[in-house]
Amino acid sequence: MTHHSSNDALQLSSEEMRTLGYQIVDMIVDHFEHVEDISLATRASRHTLEQRLREPLPEEGRPVEQVLKQLQSDVFANVMPLDHPRFFAFIPGPNNFVSVMADALTSGFNPFAGTWRLAPGTAQVELVTIDWLRQLCGLPETAGGLFVSGGSVATLTALATARHIKLADNTQDAVVYCSDQTHSASDRALKLLGFAPHQLRRLPSDASFRLSTDELTRAIAEDRAVGRRPFCVIGNAGTTNTGAVDPLSTIVDICRAEDLWFHVDAAHGGAAILNEQGQCLLLGLEQADSLALDPHKWLFQPYEIGCVLTRQSRWLYETFSVLPEILKDVAGREEEVNFRDYGIQLTRSTRALKLWMSLKVFGLAAFRHAVERGIALAEYAEALLRQSPCWEVLTPAQLGIVTFRYVGKSRPHGDLNALNQRILDAMFEDGFAFLTSTLLRGQIALRLCIINPRTTEADIQGTLQRLERFGERLSDV
Ligand SMILES: *Cc1c(COP(=O)(O)O)cnc(C)c1O
Repeated sequence: MTHHSSNDALQLSSEEMRTLGYQIVDMIVDHFEHVEDISLATRASRHTLEQRLREPLPEEGRPVEQVLKQLQSDVFANVMPLDHPRFFAFIPGPNNFVSVMADALTSGFNPFAGTWRLAPGTAQVELVTIDWLRQLCGLPETAGGLFVSGGSVATLTALATARHIKLADNTQDAVVYCSDQTHSASDRALKLLGFAPHQLRRLPSDASFRLSTDELTRAIAEDRAVGRRPFCVIGNAGTTNTGAVDPLSTIVDICRAEDLWFHVDAAHGGAAILNEQGQCLLLGLEQADSLALDPHKWLFQPYEIGCVLTRQSRWLYETFSVLPEILKDVAGREEEVNFRDYGIQLTRSTRALKLWMSLKVFGLAAFRHAVERGIALAEYAEALLRQSPCWEVLTPAQLGIVTFRYVGKSRPHGDLNALNQRILDAMFEDGFAFLTSTLLRGQIALRLCIINPRTTEADIQGTLQRLERFGERLSDV
């Protein structure tokens, strides 16, 4: 391909566009086909990457092949593949190719998704896709929402709505309740919304790491007694730490009796609503006033796509709508939904397209089976761990997550936290699998989050065998 520094219109010929496009598709397909062969060992340091990538602003253009080559060798080689079947840390990102292509289409057609009249086609796709999620979650027809960048912005959008509808934006003495297992996205959202840290009460969770409703009732009464204003409870539909689900139905009753907003963080666990077992587990979710979902986790979408739903879609409108002069001409009729009025972004892309297209192409049943597979694989991992005296299961498999620690055959004295940390470090270096730890009541827990439908039983066996070998070797030192 030729040099383009002279092309001031930033345009390639159709021949050049096709060549580049096919090359990039080949790169992506190679990634999907060979992701298992990529090592999961630690990536290059900042120092190395400074040397490779630091350069002055490029005044002149250069051949695209050269840039692609550097992308491959310096950039993508230093990206951890969260779609690797043995990537078990945090929440993995097992992407799907149809959605990747949908993102390319979204970017190529570049619809303006803030204003109905500029892209009614894609706005309708967003309405339909949001409504599919609403139906799955069992929310009433009055509910609505929109796609955002991820769970964090979904949480921010939901809690901003709670603040507006419940408090008319006056945060004075208002109190929010959640368990100590709640994701930090809630802390950050409340901080941005003008709440002081003490206005979020992180209550000690019960033995299964669920919100204790006794603690909740007590805290609400205590706060009311001293003139504070309880206004919102955040329930977890699958904590990131252990997959624990708070007693949502009981929390609903408390919220209704106390006139509190009920927000549910279903960023990790919401996808389990696809299957019957998950529906039982998540009972009460359908009563939420607001809900944060994260299709870029367990609905197998590329980043970024999160989703916020509220029980009344007008609550979002009442919270976010403003109408400056420049937008008056495109204000639209009642039935024309301008997503700019429902959230933080004016200019926004159509994140819905990838979820819509992949659901239509694979079908919901395929997604359901993929989610069920994750749940079953975590149960399989738990069963394997229970077969060996070297392991102690700390929390059972829940929503694809199991936590455990190495205790050794002879239950070594000494510092188990330090030993488990060394096991983890050995795996970082080894690169066969990637997992992280979490801290559960002061104990370091190894943690597997198994939601990749391409993960096999052999991947899990191999990972646990290796961890056990590290454990044996490191207990001796
Ligand atoms: C991942 C996660 C979040 C944050 O979502 P992002 O998409 O990372 O912004 C919030 N809550 C829970 C339970 C999560 O797992």
